[in-house]
Parts: sequence; C-alpha cells; structure tokens
Amino acid sequence: MNKFLGYQCSICRKKYTPKEVTYICPYDGGNLNVLLDYEAIKEKYQPDDITCRTENSLWRYLPLLPVSNPGGEETPLYAVGWTPTFSLPTLAKKLGIKRLWLKDESANPTASFKDRASAILVARAKEINAEVIVTASTGNAGAALAGMSAAVGQKAVIFAPKTAPVAKVAQLLIFGAEVMLVDGTYDDAVELAVKAADEFGWYCRNTGYNPFTVEGKKTAAFEIWEWSLKALSQTDKTLTVFVSVGDGNIISGIHKGFKDLVALGWLKEMPCIFGIQAEGSAAIANAFNAKTEEILPVSATTSADSISVDMPSDGVRALRAVTETGGQYILVDDDAIIAAIAELGKVGVFAEPAGATAYAGLEKAISIGAVGANDPVLVINTGSGLKDVGAALRAVAEAPIIPPTLEAVKENL
Ligand SMILES: *Cc1c(COP(=O)(O)O)cnc(C)c1O
Ligand SMILES: [Zn+2]
Repeated sequence: MNKFLGYQCSICRKKYTPKEVTYICPYDGGNLNVLLDYEAIKEKYQPDDITCRTENSLWRYLPLLPVSNPGGEETPLYAVGWTPTFSLPTLAKKLGIKRLWLKDESANPTASFKDRASAILVARAKEINAEVIVTASTGNAGAALAGMSAAVGQKAVIFAPKTAPVAKVAQLLIFGAEVMLVDGTYDDAVELAVKAADEFGWYCRNTGYNPFTVEGKKTAAFEIWEWSLKALSQTDKTLTVFVSVGDGNIISGIHKGFKDLVALGWLKEMPCIFGIQAEGSAAIANAFNAKTEEILPVSATTSADSISVDMPSDGVRALRAVTETGGQYILVDDDAIIAAIAELGKVGVFAEPAGATAYAGLEKAISIGAVGANDPVLVINTGSGLKDVGAALRAVAEAPIIPPTLEAVKENL
C-alpha cells in the first residue's frame, strides 16, 4: 500500500508530489506537512490492528508512517519509542491536581526524544539511497542520528555547537559519526549543515527543515493515544499534554500525530497541548503572546541547551499546535528549570534541563490557573539527566566528604 501522497506547505498550502521537493516550500520556506492517504489506511486498518501488535517500538505504527520497513529488527533502531508512562501521585498531590503522568523519553536508545525522528530519517535515507546524512544539533538530534545510523551502517555527519554538553559530544564520537564542533551557535550549525548538504549532495536531517522529522516525532502521540484508551475514561476531562519547545518540531510532531488519528476517526477528542519555553529562548512564546504567526528571532540564553534556539525552524506549526488545541505557551526561567530537575528526581525520574522544563511549565500553569485540579495532565520528559550532569549538580546540595568513621556519619545525618 502506498500511503505517502506527497507534501503540503504549512504556509501557502501548495501541494507537492514526493519527487518535487525534499525539504521546505520553494516559494516561502514554509515547513512541509507529509500527506498520507487516510482513506487507504482506513480501508485496510482498524485501531485494533494497531493496538494488538507485538512490536514494542515505534515500528508498531508502520501503517501510519510514510516509510517502509528499514530492516534491522534486532538492532537499536527497533528499540526506539514505546517509552513508559509513569503515574506521579506524590507530585500531583503537591501541585493540587488529581492525576498526573509522565512519559519518559529518556528510555530511548540514545536517551532522548530525538531517536524517534532519527529512526524515521534513517529509513527514509535507505529508500532514497542517500549515502550520507548530515544534521545540525544542539547535541541530542546528533546523538540520535549518530546512534541510529551506527545501528544500520549508515554514514552520518554532525555539526554541533562547541558548547554542547560533554556527554552529548561523547555520544556523537562513540557512535562513530563524523563530528565537527562549530565555533558558533546552534543556529550557525543549522546554516552550515544546509550549505554542506547542498555542496556535497548529503541528505539533510535538520530539525523542521526535513519533513520526515515530524513523522517520527508524531509516534509519541500515537503512544499517548494507545495509553489513554486504558488510562482515561470517556467521562474524563480532555487530556492536557505538556511539552518543552525549542525549534518547535517535537510539539508539531505530537500535534500531527493526534491530527492523523482524528483524520482516521480513531481519536474523538484532540488533547490540549501546552508548549513550554525558557525565558531566555522564547521566540515562539513571544509570537503567541503577541497573537501573531510572525516569529521574530531572539538571542537565546538558557542553560537548557536543547531548547536554546535563536530562530525556531518549526515555529508556525508549533504555534498552531497550541492555538488549535486550546493550549497556551508558558515561559519559565532557568532557576525554575533547575529546580524542576530536583523535583522530578525525588520521584525517580532523571531529566536534563530541557526535559524538566515541561514540568516547570506545569507548575507555572497551575499557579496562573491555566490548568485545573480535575484536568488529567501528561508531562513529557524529553531527555535523560545523564546528558548534562553539570546542570543536575546545580539542582542539589553537594555531598559532604567525610572520614570513614561512624562519628562523621552521625555528625552529617
Ligand atoms: C530537541 C529537544 C527539545 C525541543 O524540541 P524542539 O523540536 O526543538 O522544540 C526538548 N527537549 C530535549 C531533551 C530535546 O533534545
Ligand atoms: Zn509555501
């Protein structure tokens, strides 16, 4: 079944066949939405055909993806997705809401949400016989591409800012990618990756620029849908989902996933999506507050490196993910982000700053009355705390160094 019909520009709405374009709209630079043949999918599949599947990875959703099976079933490529969702009653009580869950994307093979996009990109690269995939990255997208590429023997080139946390750089190098650390910002790396792809004929994975990243990221929405079939009842209020936002591609992907399900008639009620940005990297939230779709660049300064972006590559769709679902954009400062790492840690979840940002946003949303006590809430932790232990150590008091005596233990208890 060929379910991949082509693309549609998110700005001018012009449609393209799969062969006509590769990245963004040639007229206005708009992000391209992948068009799926919903009628053909509906004819062949019912929700049960998906929910009864035994693959515990994002590949269980192959009928809803614009790629074919890339092979490599026994490699890390087949461990992407199907991440756990935890109930957090202690934190719910503390926040004054009835039900709270956290979907933990740190359980992905390279420990962040970005594996979803990179897995689909690697599959797409195989289909179009791309020899080399290149990406710019603050760290996680590169680690994900490097890891997924290594799993199937694909060549990958990564440009990351030289300021990327050392654990992320270590991942890039260990996975055997060609790594170049750019003396500049993430936005500089983005531009360089596009230029290098043009010059050397590489396939560019850049977040948002490549329409397939959203198609991978949308699988998190499919998992939330399957989970909600069991966790929520019809009398429950609408689910509210909290996502941290940098380029805006994760939130766009989650929105696209829910939209696919609504179009298929498999999801009755669109969840409400909240986007959380750092005060020091607020380009999309600024546009939301100004009630415009015109995104203006900022000069990003946040210690949540994964969401530190001057000019978001997927800003307009990220705005619509919120405005079309009745959500809001919420801003949090770095102190609140660091404090949220410690809060999540106390219930057994270790998040990197950008991952904890979603939880910091929930705290703020409740404090301003944007979320009510009866709203079921799901927070997404997008990345592992092991990615940036420097930030984690700022969230907690130092451990005392003691002589190996019981007296010292007693003194320090
Ligand atoms: C990339 C990333 C984000 C933000 O995703 P965008 O698509 O850039 O909005 C959030 N958290 C982590 C851990 C990430 O790696
Ligand atoms: Zn266009």
